[in-house]
Amino acid sequence: MRIVLLGAPGSGKGTQAKLLVEKYKIPQISTGDLLRAAVSAGTELGRRAKAAMDAGQLVSDDIVLGMIQDRLSQPDAKNGFILDGFPRSNPQAQALDSMLARLGQPLQLALLVDVDPSELMKRLTGRRTCEKCGQMYNVYFSPPKVSGVCDKCGGKLMQRSDDNEETIGKRLKVYEEQTAPLISYYRMQNKLRRVAGVGSMQDIAREISHVIEQHIHPLSALKPAITAATPSGAKPRLVAQNKAAAAPQAGTGSAGGARVTLAAHAGESAKKAAPKKKVAAKKKATAKKAAPKKAAAKAVTKKKAAVKKKMVGKKKAAPKAATKKKVAAKKKTVATKKKVAVKKKTVATKKKVAVKKKVATKKAVRKSARGRR
Ligand code: ADP
Ligand code: ZN
Repeated sequence: MRIVLLGAPGSGKGTQAKLLVEKYKIPQISTGDLLRAAVSAGTELGRRAKAAMDAGQLVSDDIVLGMIQDRLSQPDAKNGFILDGFPRSNPQAQALDSMLARLGQPLQLALLVDVDPSELMKRLTGRRTCEKCGQMYNVYFSPPKVSGVCDKCGGKLMQRSDDNEETIGKRLKVYEEQTAPLISYYRMQNKLRRVAGVGSMQDIAREISHVIEQHIHPLSALKPAITAATPSGAKPRLVAQNKAAAAPQAGTGSAGGARVTLAAHAGESAKKAAPKKKVAAKKKATAKKAAPKKAAAKAVTKKKAAVKKKMVGKKKAAPKAATKKKVAAKKKTVATKKKVAVKKKTVATKKKVAVKKKVATKKAVRKSARGRR
């Protein structure tokens, strides 16, 4: 099982990742945790990362990608992983896709833990973590029984140095600008699913497991779905579907080589469906545009082939004279009746066949024409 958890800082994706580790016995790979470990261990990498982290900015890709590469190649990641806090930008997502492609282990699911932005500040400023066992608390929503002390192990509760209002503001901005675009990135790949990150931790966890069971296990027994034709020349696109919209739109995809069509989570909001519609409309437009182009290209090829045939064993100039009229007439047709180009082309082809026959019977005429030149 290979999953990315997407979500704003404070969405609770880290908490959910830990629950998934227990349930599915695969490692959580959190770049935030790895970076914090490097910082507290005082490694070179940690020193380089610290300034960006304290400023609420992203740590540079050369650091983060190297770290992820190492982590993914460790044996415990062979059976899958839950990525938490990575990727965080389009370039990181692309790098991840290539890494996983090389391993022959494409990502299966990008799960967005969706929380209203207005909620996030309080969640983050109230966040506390046990320094011993990592258990998370929130002084507003889920306080420990004794203030500052872990219920589980008695460890001291710490506040992350970047969980202050100023840095949080910056982190939220960075999320909006650099990470939120990954929602459409994965939607295009038909890998995006969404769960509302509100309610109890257990409710959200149940919802997440439900989505995973619904979408990952069936994926391994995939049958190619009937999909809309991809316009020629266009890159194959993956479009997530909206179950709530009921209408089974076709999504074309090549996730891991297989063409898949999956139903998106029912909670997908109308707001989120809008860009999908746009994509669909765009696709339609492209298809419309592409179809006549394709037909035209075909016609040209046919024409060329026909001319070539005629030229076999003859001088180049001869068929030119014979087809001049035909070409002129065709040009006129194309110029004046672009809209019915495809129909016309059929007619033109028929004409051409007729003319071809004529041509055969008019060899003598052409011979004399050649003589004149
Ligand atoms: P949160 O998601 O709650 O903001 P994380 O623990 O995921 O916190 O990350 C903390 C900080 O570590 C980020 O603000 C950033 O500076 C750095 N970081 C984590 N993951 C990445 C990443 N994939 N790319 C760049 N920087 C990262
Ligand atoms: Zn603890």
